[in-house]
Amino acid sequence: MFAVALAVAAIPEALSSIITISLAIGTQKMAKQNAIIKDLKAVEGLGCVSVICSDKTGTLTMNKMTVRELFAAQSEAMPLLQKAMALCNDAVCNEKGSIGDPTETALAEYLGAEKYNQLRAQFPRENELPFDSTRKLMSTLHICQGEKLLFTKGAIDALLPRIKYIVNGESLRDFTEADKEQILNENLRFSEQGMRVLAFACKQADNFQLSFDDENDYIFIGLAAMTDPPRKESYTAVANCRRAGIKPVMITGDHKLTATAIAKEIGIFQEGDLCLSGAELEAMSDEELRAKLPRISVFARVSPEHKIRIVENWQQLEAVTAMTGDGVNDAPALKKADIGIAMGITGTAVSKDAASVILADDNFATIIKAVESGRSIYNNIKNAVKFLLAGNSAAILTVLVTALMNLPLPFYAVHLLFINLLTDSLPAIALSSEPMHENVLNRKPRPLSENILNKEALIYIGIHSVMLFAVTLFAYFQGLAISDGAAATFAFATLCLGRLFEGFDCRGNESLFRLGLLTNKNSIYAFLTGAVLLAAALFLPFMQGIMEVVALDTSQLLMIAGLAAAPFLLTQLLRVFRESVLHKAD
Ligand code: ADP
Ligand code: MG
Repeated sequence: MFAVALAVAAIPEALSSIITISLAIGTQKMAKQNAIIKDLKAVEGLGCVSVICSDKTGTLTMNKMTVRELFAAQSEAMPLLQKAMALCNDAVCNEKGSIGDPTETALAEYLGAEKYNQLRAQFPRENELPFDSTRKLMSTLHICQGEKLLFTKGAIDALLPRIKYIVNGESLRDFTEADKEQILNENLRFSEQGMRVLAFACKQADNFQLSFDDENDYIFIGLAAMTDPPRKESYTAVANCRRAGIKPVMITGDHKLTATAIAKEIGIFQEGDLCLSGAELEAMSDEELRAKLPRISVFARVSPEHKIRIVENWQQLEAVTAMTGDGVNDAPALKKADIGIAMGITGTAVSKDAASVILADDNFATIIKAVESGRSIYNNIKNAVKFLLAGNSAAILTVLVTALMNLPLPFYAVHLLFINLLTDSLPAIALSSEPMHENVLNRKPRPLSENILNKEALIYIGIHSVMLFAVTLFAYFQGLAISDGAAATFAFATLCLGRLFEGFDCRGNESLFRLGLLTNKNSIYAFLTGAVLLAAALFLPFMQGIMEVVALDTSQLLMIAGLAAAPFLLTQLLRVFRESVLHKAD
């Protein structure tokens, strides 16, 4: 019977429930902060993240595009540019507002609902080649004045090489190097202000069938430059990300200059950093890429397919990588990343399936909050483990030492069961509900390989189990001078109350003054409930029989209380000393 009880004492059976409770409470809190955890393992992973590769548009920026300026090939070309803006567009627009891709609604809103709808009604769409983020173009076919006209819009570097002519008055002329230079200068002027630039072109089509081979020999029409301001939370989120030792990386299909301008603005791109384009990435070997990777903070003009190479190479550098994505093509990279993050609003079902975290608000700042929660949940579990193991080791040490000295049993089976199954679980559960502390983001990310029983935890468990053991043994010997029964009662009461006190200390590495006694009310309820249960076991006459304890007098009670509180008081005193005299906060 005693052996079984000792086994119960040795095994922290509360642990599995504590972990489940911590994760459940934690994910619920995270969901309230818009981070939906699909895979519980991601909670632990989030705490280890050391690189966050984030999309720009919509995640770091608001995805609220507004056209600021148009540039037409010629003033005569302006009506044609407006036609292209209205026709090569999927947005639905009326006086009340517009629905669709923000890039496209911006164009529609610039024209105004009336003009937009009038042009679309006049020249219905006959065929189309939809936008994709690899080609970075979109084309639609219309009949204008009896001719089949193909309108195309897209990224300037995707469209310019396909231009052959330019509007010239009522007719056309060849597109020259000088034209190209002028357009690139305009693009430079817009992009440097962080604006997204779309180029527009058209051509006469031969028939109604369309293929990607038709997207050539275009007539240049003009440019539209639009702003997409950063989300205001992005600034602090990026700063917090850096404080937490995590590298933020921007990944976008946008132009290098546009991306860098926004990245500089929100603090992702710093002095000495590099910006790599998709084409440059493709030209590099993995070795070359890895050599530069730590300095690259912006990837521009990349396709979703490039994301997987970025993740893989960061992982080769032993970084724990989080990657965001919304498109179908992002799914492989989301799967590959240690933490795949999908967008709740704009994300496709495929990307959500592949991800382990979904951002309900598509917001970068939410990732940082989730990292903070992930770290904090891990700490809570670790503190509960420290608490349980320190207490259990103290019990085992006491049994072991008294057995070696051939002395009577320090605890009876019922004592060990009472401590382990009742009083012990309460502080452990309270520890798992410890609120988040500010300083979790002040530390470097924990290595993925780190054991939950790291050096710090083992030292804590070692010191605290020995302290608890020492006071329990001392109480035991005091009792032994009276009777065997008193020895067991003293040892049991001291260990039980001592562990309840320890429950406060395990809340964190700081003193209770710093942590705030009331910041975790559950820890107080746990202590009080445990103390009431212990008092019932010790003082209620019918319980005394069941619990196999002897009656205690006041002075004995005070001694037990003093001994039980001693390890806790001593530790807290050292913590206060360290904080106030040495000014060494954790
Ligand atoms: P992001 O990473 O910013 O979401 P995208 O892959 O959506 O980048 O877009 C890449 C580029 O493709 C943009 O910079 C723009 O030039 C062009 N583009 C974006 N949306 C459209 C669209 N609906 N039609 C045509 N071109 C587009
Ligand atoms: Mg996009």
